[in-house]
Amino acid sequence: MLEQQNHSMVVAEAGDTPTAFRNCVPQLFLEDIYRTTIRIIKMRSACLIDVALNLTDCVFHGVDWKGKRLHDDDFEHVLSRAASVGVETMIITGTSLAQSVKAVRLCRKYKERGLRCTVGVHPAHASEFSRPLVLSDVESFAEDESSVITPKNNDASFSPEEEDANSTCRLEYLEKLIRDNKDVVVAVGEIGIDYAELSYCPRETQETYFIKQLDAFSRLGLPFLLHSRECGDHFTRLLGEWMEKQPTDQPPFCGVVHSFNGSPEEQRFLLEKGLFLSINGSAFRERRLAEQVCQIPLDRLMFETDAPWCDIRNKDYGFQYVKTQFPTTKKKKPLVMGTCLERRNEPCHMVQVVEVFTGCYNEFNKDKPITQEAVMERVYHTTNSFFHLSP
Ligand SMILES: [Zn+2]
Repeated sequence: MLEQQNHSMVVAEAGDTPTAFRNCVPQLFLEDIYRTTIRIIKMRSACLIDVALNLTDCVFHGVDWKGKRLHDDDFEHVLSRAASVGVETMIITGTSLAQSVKAVRLCRKYKERGLRCTVGVHPAHASEFSRPLVLSDVESFAEDESSVITPKNNDASFSPEEEDANSTCRLEYLEKLIRDNKDVVVAVGEIGIDYAELSYCPRETQETYFIKQLDAFSRLGLPFLLHSRECGDHFTRLLGEWMEKQPTDQPPFCGVVHSFNGSPEEQRFLLEKGLFLSINGSAFRERRLAEQVCQIPLDRLMFETDAPWCDIRNKDYGFQYVKTQFPTTKKKKPLVMGTCLERRNEPCHMVQVVEVFTGCYNEFNKDKPITQEAVMERVYHTTNSFFHLSP
């Protein structure tokens, strides 16, 4: 278990000074040492940031994607397990307008537990830009923690003028959502291209609203969470062209490409453009990609779970390096409250992502071995400064 001993001490905050400790004289001096010690331990152990996970998903509230209740809500347990291995911040991915509103509300409710979010529309949901914004629908979806939303294809036909008015209204709404909630919204996203989702949203619509969101939100001064999947070099080409067109007096574009599993050329291009890459369990399914992502400089690297997706399975190449296992209920068995659920990835598994990365890194970089602690510290520093999180 990752620094488990140290971490158990982190639970004791400065205000909880043990009685025996408090009775010592001189009290002020000792309390000062105690506070400093706690701060140092906290810096060393609570240093995982999950930069992309889908905590608005109904599966974290015991409901499946068809809306059927499977077990009691265990959301609190999910958050507690994450904290127990030092996951300090969890950045919930905004994937549609309604999911973004729901993510902001979840962050408000659990801000002290380290929840933050992004606001944006995923390529699979990009068809929603052509539809009118019905606020009562958004409201009822966002208020229900176990609500389910699936992307809908652009089946209704709107005139170009109507689509233009609807998309403008939605972009303005999203911008206001970001501006009004800057204490919890740490990035724009996820936006990008995903040709694995063409049945939900055609190519042209994805590309149009990728660029429109870049245009609309780049002036907000926030970093971007970018999504690229199964689209060849279309994502890098579109992004590269867009970046070329930006005025030189603007602050440099700041983006992290998440769930990265692209080609070596794509990886090189993104790094050359000054972008960051965030990897999850899916990067370690095969040896080839595991070796490739271990070449990403640590000052450009971030970690995520992409929960509830992308769990690390025993057939994956990287599984050999997993050290931390959690009590887990088998799939299709009644959930034993307080345990993980097989195949439902969750933020506590961040510790496995770090273990697997470190194991693979040392396998593929034998000339420059690194400890897990050093990986965590460097990636923590990178992530913290990228998202402007607490020092
Ligand atoms: Zn994504």
